[in-house]
Amino acid sequence: MLTQKSIKLADYISYPFLIPSINLDFNIGKDSVGVQSSMIIKPKSTESSNLILQGCQINLLSISIDGNELNSEEYSITDNELIIYNPPLLEFELKIKSQIDPFSNTSLEGLYLSSGMLTTQCEAEGFRRICYHPDRPDVLSIYKVRIEADKAVYPILLSNGNNKYSGKLNNNNQRHEIIWEDPFPKPCYLFALVAGELNLVSDKYITNSGRLIDIKIYVESGDEKYTQHAINSLKKAMQWDEDKYGLEYDLDEYKIVAVRHFNMGAMENKGLNIFNSKLVLADSRTATDDELERVESVIAHEYFHNWTGNRITCRDWFQLSLKEGLTVFRDQSFTADLHSAGLKRIEDVSFLRNFQFAEDQGPTSHAVKPNEYVAIDNFYTTTIYEKGAELIRMLELLIGQEKFMNGVNNYIKTFDGKAATTEDFIDSVIKGAYSEEKNCTFDVEKFQNWYYKSGTPEVQISQEWDSTNSILNVFFEQKIDISSTNQNKEMVIPILYSCYSREKACQPIEEEKLLVLDKNKRKLQINVPSSERNAPVLSIFRGFSSPVRWKSDLSIDDYLFLFLNDNDYFTRWDSGQLLMREIIKSRIKKEENSLLEDRFILAIKQSIKHLETNDPFFLSTLLTIPGFSELEALFENVDPITIYRESLSFQISIGIKILQDLRILSKNILLNINQTWPLGKGERKILGTIWSFLALAGDTKVKRNCVDSIANSSMTIVRAALDALKPLDSNETKEASYLFYDIWKDNPVVLDSWFAYEASRPSKQGIDIIENLLSHPKFDWKAPNAIRAVLGGFSKNIESFHSLEGQGYLFMAEKIIEVDKINPITASRMVKVFSKWKTYIELNKEEMHTAILKINKANISSNTREMVELILK
Ligand SMILES: [Zn+2]
Repeated sequence: MLTQKSIKLADYISYPFLIPSINLDFNIGKDSVGVQSSMIIKPKSTESSNLILQGCQINLLSISIDGNELNSEEYSITDNELIIYNPPLLEFELKIKSQIDPFSNTSLEGLYLSSGMLTTQCEAEGFRRICYHPDRPDVLSIYKVRIEADKAVYPILLSNGNNKYSGKLNNNNQRHEIIWEDPFPKPCYLFALVAGELNLVSDKYITNSGRLIDIKIYVESGDEKYTQHAINSLKKAMQWDEDKYGLEYDLDEYKIVAVRHFNMGAMENKGLNIFNSKLVLADSRTATDDELERVESVIAHEYFHNWTGNRITCRDWFQLSLKEGLTVFRDQSFTADLHSAGLKRIEDVSFLRNFQFAEDQGPTSHAVKPNEYVAIDNFYTTTIYEKGAELIRMLELLIGQEKFMNGVNNYIKTFDGKAATTEDFIDSVIKGAYSEEKNCTFDVEKFQNWYYKSGTPEVQISQEWDSTNSILNVFFEQKIDISSTNQNKEMVIPILYSCYSREKACQPIEEEKLLVLDKNKRKLQINVPSSERNAPVLSIFRGFSSPVRWKSDLSIDDYLFLFLNDNDYFTRWDSGQLLMREIIKSRIKKEENSLLEDRFILAIKQSIKHLETNDPFFLSTLLTIPGFSELEALFENVDPITIYRESLSFQISIGIKILQDLRILSKNILLNINQTWPLGKGERKILGTIWSFLALAGDTKVKRNCVDSIANSSMTIVRAALDALKPLDSNETKEASYLFYDIWKDNPVVLDSWFAYEASRPSKQGIDIIENLLSHPKFDWKAPNAIRAVLGGFSKNIESFHSLEGQGYLFMAEKIIEVDKINPITASRMVKVFSKWKTYIELNKEEMHTAILKINKANISSNTREMVELILK
């Protein structure tokens, strides 16, 4: 077995050299690429130290310093490093000539081939596959890049920054060259190069100060018609960042390239974003409303990085959340401002609870600022991104929005052009927000614990009603794990609360207020008007004011009350989710719950009446059954198949009981269904919900409607129809799926959703169907989207994946080993489907363990090895 070498935050030492500028020269040939780098290098101190550069799969041709070629005693070379002994003590120029082979690079890191075009991915450590370089984010340089290639094969040659020159080569008419210059210092992970046959769609944006920016979207031929939504989204993002943060775009052009073979969603390379094509190519015919919103937010996210990430970057990869948490927070605020803040909050919380909370419960749980790692690629997690964003959100809540903005502006002013840490961020935000630090209203040091502690904090809440004095006493306690000294720390937990009169439901007695729980225990006293005869209903953690779990003594009556009356979107939705979880739990435990179910159904009927026309999107959200992973979290010994079946049977029973209400509702919303996004999205959403309930309840007319809408509806309606039919394994399901395939078989982006659908749909054929999908002529092993669609889809096919003979687990293990051979990053992410193995009932646990051991015994990459070892631990 390999021994895994881990990298520790405590070992950080700044790089002993500065590299103020780099000139890169790429000569693209038929089966290799010549790379020549010239770097100006300045030692930071007068003491001599060896110059260590990283490099991987590079064929070194020559090295020279200030024009003198080095002989073999003056340097040494290993698989990963180039060490130059005793370089000059004053500034010098290092020139390295080398050759790389992007054509056989399947890792999708460094320079590689995707659908005939050459493209790069350098974050986190891909630059070392292009040329010898320190390849660490705290080394910032100005880049000048020359690319030459055959004009017929690679008519488009792109890199970061502004175009300085392009033309034919004098000595060879078939080849052309282009020069790009990026005037802003950047770390090498933001370097990008694209070469190939691409079509350009261009547009313009004028900044508030009157500067003209060229927007250029590059896509494969035939995809031009799907770019308008991406362009609109980019313009909205540019405008929003100027209006809200005062941040203007800084280069003359902004380029986006859509690539089919891509490990990530998108990459914020300075001035040359590279996107997974599914996040660029979208219109209402090919993408659902949710997908359109996702494209809009990812385009914005990568754009926002231009300041939070690119102009100010991370000192080292332990600070990853410095750029990601902050930028996710910014893209969430953008979407909230453009659409509905309340609904966006519910969507984000639901995602956080299903994925980040689940991560916290498993073996790969880690802090937002981890202190060691083996493969940094394994740290692109929901904890770094989504929990990181929650920490910024809490900071904004604690400081207040206006002051918080002053704080962020101060951070940007202080660190522009530099590499920073999360502590630098907090410190400069506090300094910018408050004229004097002593005016800060919370304990900053305790707040920082959020960055260092792993796991989801817990808060216990209990109430005491003092009817004589009309006072509601509320006791808050944060659970602190005393078993670990490192974790034994109080946190700053902001709690938004309010309370309602039980008699006059719509009127909060207490307007929303903020309580800062910064000690182990705290008591809150709410004075209630003496006219109130009963204890008021407490509404806590409104807007999900902290990413914690809480337990309270609120009663079922209280939750029903909040579900019907709370004016906070989140609390209202959350109360319904809690009630549904309780119902599903009692069904699984075979406990009597008919009274609760009946009362809940009654509350649903009331909500339908109140919300059908004024907020159909919210109504649909209220009717959404809790996510599978949230249900799993309710049990010590998880029986996945039972959870799946009981959750489904609960949906069927709701469907049967509200059949008439849904039929009336579906007639009332039809008028707005065909409006252009974002209009009509609430109506489309609720129609999908109605179809799902009615199809489950056995409504044959609805099943037919679903099949009939596959051919000519917007993608939102089409996918709603497919989803409604999915759990049924009926003739209609097969017919609809086949129709969909037939229409979209030549559009790989849309077809991925069909692969995911087929892989996740319950079927008696079990894993044979998955095997067929993987050998389907339209399946592309090199596209991570396709792999995720089929294998990820299969992991959600609860009855097949968790089948008790363990066949599903073994099959998944074999496929992960295969994927690992060509793409370790995708494989190491797929392994996480096994991360909760210890929480399952005995039989599943054993079989899953056998499958993980199978991967562990195989010859796998260090990325996947790290995940497997963590999971087995
Ligand atoms: Zn990002």
